[in-house]
Amino acid sequence: MFDINQLIRPHLRDLKPYSSARDEFSGDAKIFLDANENPLGSAGDTTLNRYPDPYQRKVKEKVSELTDVPAKNIFLGNGSDEPIDLLVRAFCRPAQDSILIMPPTYGMYEVSAGIHDTGIVRVPLRPDFTPDVEAVKVATTPETKLLFICTPNNPTGNDFGTAEVERLVREFPGIAVVDEAYVDFCGRESWTSRLSEFPNLVVLRTFSKAWGMAGLRLGMAFASEEIIEILNKIKPPYNINELAQIEALKALENGEKMKAMVAEIIEERSFLEEEFGKLSLVEHVFPSDSNFILAKVDKADAVYDYLVNAGIVVRNRSRVRLCEGSLRVTVGTREENLALIGALKNI
Ligand code: PMP
Repeated sequence: MFDINQLIRPHLRDLKPYSSARDEFSGDAKIFLDANENPLGSAGDTTLNRYPDPYQRKVKEKVSELTDVPAKNIFLGNGSDEPIDLLVRAFCRPAQDSILIMPPTYGMYEVSAGIHDTGIVRVPLRPDFTPDVEAVKVATTPETKLLFICTPNNPTGNDFGTAEVERLVREFPGIAVVDEAYVDFCGRESWTSRLSEFPNLVVLRTFSKAWGMAGLRLGMAFASEEIIEILNKIKPPYNINELAQIEALKALENGEKMKAMVAEIIEERSFLEEEFGKLSLVEHVFPSDSNFILAKVDKADAVYDYLVNAGIVVRNRSRVRLCEGSLRVTVGTREENLALIGALKNI
């Protein structure tokens, strides 16, 4: 039986979180002299003299409407990097526990584990970039507290099969984190629709990709009420600033714009894949379900340097295991993509 109280680090069970007077406040006070704010206003040109809502209730209500996930099952973080970090802190005892990752994958899982002195169990993807479910099972011990499943995966770009992800989540005894930063570009339904089936499932999503708000720093974690409570307990009190909450609410009213941008990016991705396929220095373009493509190119390091000199920065993944000789390229505007293709033709 999955028991979150057995999984959480023991010293956190009875931790009293930070609380402000306004957490309990439910009357209709008009004068707030509880939080040592500046009563006169703000030195900036906005009214930012008050602390923001620590639980971002308005933003969560709106996210709830759009995702059909109740607000009590939503956590908002300073980017999705924040919930990644908080999950490691909540569940992994330093020097004793570990996370399990399936490289090549997103780099922050390892960094967060490293910061917290937590072990890292690596079960590489198969050469076709699919998860090795059996090997994950074999590598899992009672100390393996978190499993990170990045799908669509960064940097390989592919979405894992539903059946494989389901087996991974179902069979993992700890918390299974499905990182869906790129889900909007892959066309399938989000795993948030299946939260109630899996008490150990955390789904991560972000405003940084499809919503086009990487500069805002806003990420989302969806999970059981118990897991969300744990994240709330250990987060910094005002982790989402007032401007981020205001801008997120505005963006969430613009769902149609987000969808139009996603459609355009997917179209540009096809264009880039096609054009890359025609270049003689490109040996292989891996299929992508994301807003980037991974391409194996002849003399990747030299091509990377050449592009940097031409003022074009891509991601050099040529030394990453299973991605040897590959560059990762974010889908740009048509103009940017043409500039990239033009530069590659000139080599
Ligand atoms: N997950 C994945 C798979 C990513 O690629 C990234 C960013 N590149 C993130 C999470 C973090 O996104 P953010 O903190 O901007 O929400």
